[in-house]
Amino acid sequence: MVDGRYFFPHSARFVEARAVLTADRRLHIEDRAQAMLADLPFKDVRVSARLGNIARRLTLPDGACFETYDNDGIDDMLADARRISGQGFVDRLERSWRTVAVSVLLAGLAGWGFVVFGIPAIAMGLAQSTPPVVARVMSDQTLAIIDRSSLEPSKLSPSDMKRADMLFERVASYAPRGRGGYALLFRSGKAIGPNAFALPDGRIVMTDQLWKLVKNDDEIEGVFAHEMSHVDHAHGLQRVYEASLIPAAIAVVTGDLSQVSQLSVILPGILLQSAYSRGFEQQADDDAAARLTRMGGHPARFAAFLERLDARLCGKSGCGPSWLGDHPDTKLRAERLRSEEPAKK
Ligand SMILES: [Zn+2]
Repeated sequence: MVDGRYFFPHSARFVEARAVLTADRRLHIEDRAQAMLADLPFKDVRVSARLGNIARRLTLPDGACFETYDNDGIDDMLADARRISGQGFVDRLERSWRTVAVSVLLAGLAGWGFVVFGIPAIAMGLAQSTPPVVARVMSDQTLAIIDRSSLEPSKLSPSDMKRADMLFERVASYAPRGRGGYALLFRSGKAIGPNAFALPDGRIVMTDQLWKLVKNDDEIEGVFAHEMSHVDHAHGLQRVYEASLIPAAIAVVTGDLSQVSQLSVILPGILLQSAYSRGFEQQADDDAAARLTRMGGHPARFAAFLERLDARLCGKSGCGPSWLGDHPDTKLRAERLRSEEPAKK
């Protein structure tokens, strides 16, 4: 508490008064009768410097001022104000840490949302707007890598190839791109077992090992229809873009084909491990079932083929290399396919 004189705004009139700094860093000035003369944040007060024994002045924004010879009292007040303000700083800091934590959480959520929803949506958009030339370059490079690493020339007999081609063309004629929109490639794949995969440009590779497991036309037609569906929905491209959104975006936006070669390094892994999402596989199965039905075939036989592959190739430690990939949900897939089997009339 500091005693002094309160001068009314822009006036020589004054009253005896005392000034107090409150705990919330406000300056109270009251007269001897304890009537409030001023109450304002201390930071709005201008304090004159200490100069010998000259009276100190606290100037208020409204032009009023408080004058005192209690220099030490004013210095104490200034020190108190700094101390309180320091605590306020800690308070503000604590509040701002809460703000920071909330911001980090929100940013994390936004990032998660972007990865879970945004990237797949962008990947789909990119896949749909990929020019055929990009799809072809990517397919060429992908096939070259897989050929080098995992495939040998097919040893199927000419009559088997002819029969497979015939069935393939039959399915293609029911598929969106029609005959000529897809091509069947034969390979032997000791390392990748009974397998088939679709390249983005419509070429579909089938291994001899898969062909040899087939017992009726519906089974292999189901596989072809399933793979054609992956082509139709650009599932391979979508997975690549999801895996490498930034170089993909550069390739599409700039047409820079050197970026495409980076992408084709990713695709072989995706195709060989059947690392499509469950949603993509379901879509391809549904398309295959619908197509088989339209062709007068039986989705249930395709389901039986999946189960036979599963029984033969999958053990406790997973499925080994095969068309089933690492999907442990053969039973669910087969059930779903059977549910699409048309009712017998
Ligand atoms: Zn698939």
